[in-house]
Amino acid sequence: MKKSFSKIKEADKMKDNFISMASHELRSPITALKGYLELLSDRNKDKMDEESARYLKNMKSSINRLDSLVSDILEISKLEGTCIPLKITAFNLQPVIQKILEEMRFQASQKGLAIKHPESAIPMVKADKARTEQILINLVSNAIKYTMKGKIEIIAKVKNKELLITVTDTGVGISSKDIEKLFEKFYRIKDNGLESVSGTGLGLWISRGLARKMNGDITAESTKNIGSRFTLHLPLA
Ligand code: ADP
Repeated sequence: MKKSFSKIKEADKMKDNFISMASHELRSPITALKGYLELLSDRNKDKMDEESARYLKNMKSSINRLDSLVSDILEISKLEGTCIPLKITAFNLQPVIQKILEEMRFQASQKGLAIKHPESAIPMVKADKARTEQILINLVSNAIKYTMKGKIEIIAKVKNKELLITVTDTGVGISSKDIEKLFEKFYRIKDNGLESVSGTGLGLWISRGLARKMNGDITAESTKNIGSRFTLHLPLA
């Protein structure tokens, strides 16, 4: 019994190693393809006919999708594996939120969306700073992706010895049937009118996995056609 358990563990480790190696190996040709595609479109900017420009645009969006898929699969193998390197420290979240606002404001403004964050004193949290930033970027970029008009608001407040960071949008919303499944791997809502928005259905699974590894969590509430609110829970320092 003991022996078969250790064999399963060993096979599992081999699988993790394989996925991690394969994802790393896929990275370099993807980076090269992205670089050459940029070069090609820069060089031929003024010479290209409409059809060729469309082909190039499709190639770029496919390669970008492949790139994020490979990153997500690598993240999954790390999260499912035995150890994901986390650097837990006590830090102030305010500069992290400010940085995200700077980064995402352009993307939001292109869709005519405002991003708001009423500044208030935020107590220190105990978490991995880079991973916290990654989670919040995922939540804010989802809010932008799935909102056609209105605003996105980021608010931080303390409740029950936790810091709650809510990302609220005025987007398409999520039905109660779908909200249960949102955090499953590869789950994407099919009937929200935004099926063409690109994504892998892995972001929330990864974000929740990371939050839980940091002794936090992510919860969601939503009303269809009104908007959604995702909350990142983090332990206070
Ligand atoms: P992706 O956005 O890459 O598809 P996610 O795991 O981040 O993957 O999200 C899973 C699904 O949850 C999305 O495909 C979308 O249907 C839904 N979703 C996520 N965030 C929101 C949001 N803020 N508003 C409405 N639907 C959302």
